[in-house]
Amino acid sequence: MNSRILIVEDEPAMQAGLVYALKKEGYEVECVGDGERALDVARGSAPDLVLLDVMLPKRSGFDVLAALRRDGRRVPVILLTAKGQEIDKVQGFDLGADDYVTKPFSLAELLARIRARLRRRADDAGEVPNELVLGSARVDLKRMAVERDAERFELSLREVDMLKLLWRERGRPVSRERFLEEVWGHERFPTTRTVDQHVVKLRQKLEADPANPKVLLTAFGVGYRLEV
Ligand code: CA
Repeated sequence: MNSRILIVEDEPAMQAGLVYALKKEGYEVECVGDGERALDVARGSAPDLVLLDVMLPKRSGFDVLAALRRDGRRVPVILLTAKGQEIDKVQGFDLGADDYVTKPFSLAELLARIRARLRRRADDAGEVPNELVLGSARVDLKRMAVERDAERFELSLREVDMLKLLWRERGRPVSRERFLEEVWGHERFPTTRTVDQHVVKLRQKLEADPANPKVLLTAFGVGYRLEV
């Protein structure tokens, strides 16, 4: 499947140039011209990468980036900064940008950076081992089973996918919305309550005392995180 890139850029000529160039490279492209719309689309359609201009109408690129990271979204973000905005780069990295290019940039350089980010993301996604040791629980993702305190529990496919996502983000909060997006995909019916119900079941398998979890922790106001 082709990678999907969200372009956030308010200058029409730049926008048109980027859309043309990225489509030509075989990417699926969505394009928006202001920060508010950017946030809506990034949350709704979960692109594989975001090209994010800093100076935007309604909400700045920094604002959009900060909101995405607060959601727990790790989508790679490449900032487009204007020449001479050195301070912006530092601020951008602090907010969780993965890379930046300075306008005016060469298309070849931008494309190389996009490829590098997408490749790294694919590597990250692939690195979940088959066996995880989580507190006193030993999880076998391949056999879909948990062993803990001489007991054995079966895992559902959803639970395996949830654990993989939690593991990839271990130590960092994963929002309920992101679980829905990545584990449930675009099915119509699940709600954030569904995520909570699955977490309850997972805790019964992983935790010696599910009411007082040590491994699958609540990230208040966001979702959940894995403590390892
Ligand atoms: Ca701009």
